[in-house]
Amino acid sequence: MARKLAQRPEVDRARCDACGLCFVACPEGAMALDHDGFPLVDDVRCGGCLACARACPVGALGVAHAARCAA
Ligand code: SF4
Ligand code: SF4
Repeated sequence: MARKLAQRPEVDRARCDACGLCFVACPEGAMALDHDGFPLVDDVRCGGCLACARACPVGALGVAHAARCAA
């Protein structure tokens, strides 16, 4: 499916305390938690809404501007 994503969250593991709040906040089911509790973003599902970043209490989710285009 053709889709362009202008922004997506990027996890700063040095700040992240693995609380999982971003995982809960994601309306797209685009996040998973790895075995250490750090979030992983599914770039296919992610719609770039940044609800996860707003939910993060320690500012560990920044914005990575990345264009993803599929023909
Ligand atoms: S930007 Fe939105 S869709 Fe993407 S992982 Fe965060 S909450 Fe989910
Ligand atoms: S909300 Fe922030 S601190 Fe909590 S798991 Fe997500 S990125 Fe890490």
